[in-house]
Amino acid sequence: MNEIPQFTGNTAVSHGSDRTAPVFDPATGQQTKTVALATAAEVSAAVLKARTAWPEWARMSPLRRARILDRFKSILWERAETLAEVISSEHGKTHDDALGEVTRGIEVVEFATGAPHLLKGEVSENVGTAVDSYSLRQPLGVVAGITPFNFPAMVPMWMFPVALACGNTFVLKPSERVPSASLLLAEWLSEAGLPDGVFNVVQGDKEAVDALLEHPDVKAVSFVGSTPIAKYIHAKGTANGKRVQALGGAKNHMVILPDADLDQAANALMGAAFGSAGERCMAISVAVPVTDAVADALVERLVPMMEKLRVGPATDRSAEMGPVVSEAARKRIVDYIGQGEAAGAKVVLDGRRFIPPQGHENGYFVGPTLLDHVTPDMSVWKDEIFGPVLSVVRRNTYAGAVELVQAHEYANGVAIFTRDGDAARAFSHEIEVGMVGVNVPLPVPVAFHSFGGWKQSLFGDHHMHGMEGVRFYTRMKAITTRWPTGVRSGPEFAMPTLG
Ligand code: NAD
Repeated sequence: MNEIPQFTGNTAVSHGSDRTAPVFDPATGQQTKTVALATAAEVSAAVLKARTAWPEWARMSPLRRARILDRFKSILWERAETLAEVISSEHGKTHDDALGEVTRGIEVVEFATGAPHLLKGEVSENVGTAVDSYSLRQPLGVVAGITPFNFPAMVPMWMFPVALACGNTFVLKPSERVPSASLLLAEWLSEAGLPDGVFNVVQGDKEAVDALLEHPDVKAVSFVGSTPIAKYIHAKGTANGKRVQALGGAKNHMVILPDADLDQAANALMGAAFGSAGERCMAISVAVPVTDAVADALVERLVPMMEKLRVGPATDRSAEMGPVVSEAARKRIVDYIGQGEAAGAKVVLDGRRFIPPQGHENGYFVGPTLLDHVTPDMSVWKDEIFGPVLSVVRRNTYAGAVELVQAHEYANGVAIFTRDGDAARAFSHEIEVGMVGVNVPLPVPVAFHSFGGWKQSLFGDHHMHGMEGVRFYTRMKAITTRWPTGVRSGPEFAMPTLG
């Protein structure tokens, strides 16, 4: 069976141990590949390659680094279809959704090609007599990225284009469930002219992650995944002296006020709740209609649309939603629907009853599910289900809706649907959530802004990509200069004061 290897020093390297994991096609439930799981020694070898490549890469002018990324960007545009097909074959998402993911990833490469401008420092002339001061941003060294299954290309691309543009070298540890996209990215970077060892991929599990967190040459770690692992990465990485940004799980609400355009809100909810089978960290999993009348009207609109939603494998180009990623994920989602029902939620549409298309009986399919009359004491509200399950929590007032959102431990994204500018502004400014949409259901910031949640959705001080990414992957240096033509004086023992 096809084994997915590591990629270091610009070549795929064979695996020196019998640690492997199966890779499945979620649409059929069939194992299609195995993936090499790196040992600590293999991780060390990759870090050494990155460490060795770093000084020259860091010295290269930002413009030359940007030109390599620019060639990489052209390759990505040319081969987006190929990358999307690979993503769908291991993740299960539809072809259009995978293409959308690739496009959003390319946006970060586009941003990173602006590195020469982004890395410009600040200069102050004459801070003292004949004394000038300037500050600049320098790369950190070897940095690592650890990524989740749900965006096999986009999430790595939130990280490495910016890290590389800033002059760091990179070791990526993708999710072992979707390992192939990262290898294509590595090959294409190499084809674009990236020097050996600047970008490396170690496939693996906890052993590889721990080896990265413990390695003294890894200066910073970017993580995206579930909250328990994000907490662990942040605690262990910072304890080992590394800079860490660890993005975690989510439970995103959409508040629908009585004056909202309900057709627009229902359409938006369909895509935001069931796109990518709800396996997006920005998926809306809770609708909060304000007043029962709005809730009833919303449910009435959603049901026929959900009944018509085309669920199928990515090979069926008309499918609007694919399977979930694994059998374990399918079971977890089915179990949550049962818990919601047992706790008193009304199962308006039951995805457990979905019958997979012919030939895909063993695929990991769950149909779109609508739970109404969900209350905050239920696990379906408290926990991240990460599947195609939309809960409706009814509220009578705007204040009650805000209180519900604020009470949740996760604070990644939130949306409000309304025509009332005052309410939208108050909501946007007061809500304690990292990314807010006004009549926008998935407020995923574009690449030149930064992505990140609050509370239990992010551990660390920096969001990803945009200027926050540049700040994360660089450190400041301030240089103060005086030249011999300046004023001469004898030794001074008091704290220097300029001016
Ligand atoms: P996960 O936490 O299981 O895995 C993420 C990464 O951590 C993988 O590379 C995995 O190999 C590694 N890992 C898993 N268990 C580990 C352990 N015990 N020790 C060390 N490393 C470990 O997440 P997932 O299931 O791949 O992805 C889904 C989760 O990611 C959801 O919670 C989702 O909300 C979250 N996510 C968040 C964002 C965001 O921006 N906040 C974006 C995408 C996904």
